[in-house]
Amino acid sequence: MHFHQYYPIDVVNGPGTRCTLFVAGCEHQCPGCYNKSTWRLDSGRRFTPEDEDRIIADLNDSRIPRQGLSLSGGDPLHPQNLSAILHLVKRVRAACEGKDIWLWTGYQLGTLTPAQREVVSFINVLIDGKFVQDLKDPALIWRGSSNQVIHRLR
Ligand code: SF4
Repeated sequence: MHFHQYYPIDVVNGPGTRCTLFVAGCEHQCPGCYNKSTWRLDSGRRFTPEDEDRIIADLNDSRIPRQGLSLSGGDPLHPQNLSAILHLVKRVRAACEGKDIWLWTGYQLGTLTPAQREVVSFINVLIDGKFVQDLKDPALIWRGSSNQVIHRLR
């Protein structure tokens, strides 16, 4: 997996103070996409075990308490990203007690593959659906367009 940005302290993408990772790779090609540079799977930098270690350490850093981890992109549920994202969310569950995981995807919850659903089984909140320009609403919180749904899963 590749990624574009990692923010160790983020108050924009999800509730509270968070760690946020923007991964590379998206096949949805939504007109009006705010993040076209992330579409290519090989864009950005390779996500290494050291990057994963850093996220775990940041989530457990008591000097700046984080509510959780946000995963966006690109699309964290792109088939090519699933094994790295699964490894990461399992590790957060095991090693970062009390931290929540929010994940943004262009796929819809009802049409996920078994491998995508396995990732989703470890997260707290899924915001799903493509960005639809005609349904864009800047007043929406944590969503770009009104077709997207915030699923609170646990
Ligand atoms: S799902 Fe998100 S990153 Fe992918 S094309 Fe649509 S708006 Fe862009």
